[in-house]
Amino acid sequence: MTPCDATLTPDAAAAIRWDVVIIGAGPAGSSAALRVARSGLRVLLIDRGDLPRGKLCGCCLSTAAVSELVRLAIATHGGPLERAVPLRRISVAAGGRVAPIDVSGGATLSREALDTDLVAAAITAGCEWLPHTTAISIDEGPAAADPGVSVVVRTSPDSPACRIEGRRLLLATGLGDHVRLSRGTAPIQARTLAPQSRIGIGAVLPAAAAPLPPGELLMAVTPFGYCGIVRLEDGRIDVAAAVDRHELTVAEPAAIVRRIMSTACGGEPVAALDGLESAVMRATPALTRSAPVVDGRHRTVMRIGDAAGYVEPFTGEGMGWALAAGRLAADALVDPATATLAPADVAADRYARSHAKHFGPRHARCQRVAAGLRLPRLVRLAVRAAQLAPWAARLAVPAVTGSLATRHVMDRSTAGAAS
Ligand SMILES: Cc1cc2nc3c(=O)[nH]c(=O)nc-3n(C[C@H](O)[C@H](O)[C@H](O)COP(=O)(O)OP(=O)(O)OC[C@H]3O[C@@H](n4cnc5c(N)ncnc54)[C@H](O)[C@@H]3O)c2cc1C
Repeated sequence: MTPCDATLTPDAAAAIRWDVVIIGAGPAGSSAALRVARSGLRVLLIDRGDLPRGKLCGCCLSTAAVSELVRLAIATHGGPLERAVPLRRISVAAGGRVAPIDVSGGATLSREALDTDLVAAAITAGCEWLPHTTAISIDEGPAAADPGVSVVVRTSPDSPACRIEGRRLLLATGLGDHVRLSRGTAPIQARTLAPQSRIGIGAVLPAAAAPLPPGELLMAVTPFGYCGIVRLEDGRIDVAAAVDRHELTVAEPAAIVRRIMSTACGGEPVAALDGLESAVMRATPALTRSAPVVDGRHRTVMRIGDAAGYVEPFTGEGMGWALAAGRLAADALVDPATATLAPADVAADRYARSHAKHFGPRHARCQRVAAGLRLPRLVRLAVRAAQLAPWAARLAVPAVTGSLATRHVMDRSTAGAAS
């Protein structure tokens, strides 16, 4: 029995009125589940998949993500940070030049390990776990002093639908948010995609695929997309790229990754990526998007993580944002003095305010970086400058990734000083 084996069936879950139902067990959903469960409320975490499972991701934890994980204080066997590999160097390649930049405070960790550890910690804290269960639609109950939400779920396309009731709902379904929210009779899919949005493609390759040392991230940048390559804690090579959408209409994903590598590195085989063509490639929908963070007539639905908005992944902040959103939502939902659910309106206002304050400046900075990456001369100039003055590049990294305040957290946490 693994820590994430299900002990609940949808029918059994339908017999309970949950305080909080959370759909999606990525970092956003599981960190929120962990925090709400620790306050003693009844929490149900639902996912269409099971764990451990991979996910298309660069697998680099920013210093902010590391800091969020330290704040979660997962005690079991040191939690995910014990397994993570400290990130020591980012080599940025563009226009045939490669600039190595020393960094500190970040880490790499596979999504199998991170997501499984987070859900296991949530279960240990008292959260109930329902895998293999897809949420189809959400309905709010009639207006009342204590409004509620019901979620229609299925375990397979032809299994009977089942209705799970909760007092509040967190939508943590990532980029593929296909859950319908019914407003009266009109279902809506509330999200806005940026017109120039790139899409994600990637794969995880065997350890021998590239001679990349642990703790080094190779970031290859071209005008039509970029690709990050890193060795995971178990030795496998993670390849994750963000590319212009039209690229996929003219080439296979593996060919696009190879073209990014050869264009950025100037044809030199910086990373051979053996076996890329036969690997299972994953792809995402459009990456840059936004959606209302609070939804529903009675404001009982909150979106967290990518489901609430995302900007493409160059600065490697998505998991940190997801963990932070889980924290902000849990803080808004639970009244700290009484450890009870805050009224829906109060929680919604609190969450909307804290989300805008926390993510507004971060998303704006990330948008500016994304725009800059589309200017080849600027990128080439930056790489040339980083080659000539590595110390200046080292100082510039936190300004690009927004990690100045927490840059040495990973070093402290791996030294056993997590608090
Ligand atoms: C190419 C690429 C590279 C990236 N690189 C990095 C990086 O290096 N560092 C970083 O920090 N971030 C990176 N990111 C971003 C990061 O992967 C995401 O921001 C992060 O996973 C968001 O977490 P989340 O919990 O919001 O969603 P997710 O991790 O996507 O989790 C969503 C969960 O919801 C479940 N789900 C979806 N719909 C339903 C449904 N209807 N019913 C039940 N369950 C459902 C899914 O199965 C999934 O488990 C990258 C992203 C891409 C695309």
